[in-house]
Amino acid sequence: MQIAERTVASFHYTLTNDAGDVLDSSDGREPLTYLHGAGNIVPGLEEKMAGHVVGDAFTVDVAPVDGYGEYVAELVQRVPRESFEGVDDLAIGMQFQAQTQQGMIPVVVTEVDGDTVTVDGNHPLAGETLHFAVEITEVREASVEETLHGHAHGAGGHHH
Ligand code: ZN
Repeated sequence: MQIAERTVASFHYTLTNDAGDVLDSSDGREPLTYLHGAGNIVPGLEEKMAGHVVGDAFTVDVAPVDGYGEYVAELVQRVPRESFEGVDDLAIGMQFQAQTQQGMIPVVVTEVDGDTVTVDGNHPLAGETLHFAVEITEVREASVEETLHGHAHGAGGHHH
């Protein structure tokens, strides 16, 4: 069975950046399982998964625009400390939901300087060209329920 719309595929992967640093990997874990065609994985990878079958091993290079997006300088903002009323121990790395012109987006605190806090709404991998090494371990038909939910169920998938 080939990966196509309404199939659920499982795969092992190693993700590296341009410098060859490993950013993420399924090594030592269950393979990642996703519903194809539902936007569960980055678009540039999903597109290249189509047509593959169990046992296929290949690499995919994904440009930022087809990955986690370009790095947008405007998403880095300096806001007053008082915006975080009720938050004790404000620290670098803390995540919040921020109201923006694009709606609610997750932001992470990148600097705390006195009464000024810098937050960054870019995905941590924004601006990175992604290099995936992929090996397909399973392809099956999606259930009606999975198709309706827009994600895979079972091992490596969604549990609820
Ligand atoms: Zn579900």
